[in-house]
Amino acid sequence: MTHRSVTVLGATGSIGLSTLDVVRRHPARFSVWALTAGTKAQELAALCREFKPAFAVMADVGAARELESLLADQPETTVLGGEQGLCQVAAAEEADTVMAAIVGAAGLAPTLAAVRAGKRVLLANKEALVMSGRLFMDAVAESGAELLPIDSEHNAIFQCMPADKVRNPVAAGITRILLTASGGPFRTLSAESLKSVTPVQACAHPNWSMGQKISVDSATLMNKGLELIEACWLFNTTPDHVEVHVHPESIIHSMVEYADGSVLAQMGSPDMRTPIANGMAWPERIAAGVAPLDLFAIGTFHFERPDITRFPCLRLAAEAFATGGTAPAVLNAANEIAVAAFLEGKLSFTDIPVIIERTLAATEVVEADSFETIFAKDAEARAQAKEHIGLLPA
Ligand code: NAD
Ligand code: MG
Repeated sequence: MTHRSVTVLGATGSIGLSTLDVVRRHPARFSVWALTAGTKAQELAALCREFKPAFAVMADVGAARELESLLADQPETTVLGGEQGLCQVAAAEEADTVMAAIVGAAGLAPTLAAVRAGKRVLLANKEALVMSGRLFMDAVAESGAELLPIDSEHNAIFQCMPADKVRNPVAAGITRILLTASGGPFRTLSAESLKSVTPVQACAHPNWSMGQKISVDSATLMNKGLELIEACWLFNTTPDHVEVHVHPESIIHSMVEYADGSVLAQMGSPDMRTPIANGMAWPERIAAGVAPLDLFAIGTFHFERPDITRFPCLRLAAEAFATGGTAPAVLNAANEIAVAAFLEGKLSFTDIPVIIERTLAATEVVEADSFETIFAKDAEARAQAKEHIGLLPA
């Protein structure tokens, strides 16, 4: 058994809490070096009481002050604030494993810090990879970091591949990746009905319990678009080798097709503790607290093609990846702004892709030659997206 010292970036979120649940089940195997969160000091304080990390970081500096006073009687935990603190604990020598579970572009800098420090990086934060693609993968290769996918589909694909050929699927005889999608809560709604869906409906995913942003992404199918890009970078392949299959039961988490006609699938109850435990203990297998699969109760699997007319976000993501350069970073930034506006009741569900498409059209694509270029485009796209939201008729 390999002992691992773990830092959890985004500890108070859906993935962060599932990660800590796996840690809790294996106290001899895992210890917690650092925990981080955005703004919720009370919630992070409760986790610090239980896991006694050496460091706790709040991205928000005011929240860091609050956490410091909440933990005044726990001197073994040092409290830091701001992005610099996040990057510091992500790269700290004392931790060998970093769970990258911050949501959105805010996760890129700390995830990259963990990559550059050569950690085992458990990647949940798909937006970081979508934004910076090649630069991110180059940084992994340069540092020798061990990048393991936590997104359930990518973890499934990883499990269906020979471990030494994850970056060379052709040599493994792999012909296609079958990326499964639940279809989200609005899979069967008409285009007309989609106009009036609410944030509460969008966040009520039929199979998975997740953070708000990814729940909306699942409802628009942008999540599958981001995952298509994520799969291309992780497995060094192209979109014509990845086919999205809507599978509403969410039991098959994805599949890999081989030249001899074999199709390998990874299945399981829809519970993120499976891919999390897989990444944390890899190549060993450990209990994750997940309910065993009851195929008799499930009975039937269904498959259908995604409908990119009702759900244009999947098309927009594929186009942005094909355009290349800074286009995926712009897509991601515009999506984050549009989803936030939708959650605040300031944008309709069907205007999310409209804002993304307008932002992509209004933002010049340049070569993604440095992280500075990517962060600058991210900022430009956010401003553009806000402007386009302001221009919509009330
Ligand atoms: P969440 O909203 O539940 O949690 C997000 C975490 O990030 C919280 O701890 C929050 O405090 C922190 N955070 C938010 N803004 C921050 C900022 N500006 N700076 C620093 N920290 C910040 O999100 P989630 O559902 O746990 O998703 C996390 C990531 O994992 C996302 O990238 C998502 O796409 C990916 N993911 C999630 C699931 C899932 O089942 N939830 C599945 C696959 C992939
Ligand atoms: Mg996924």
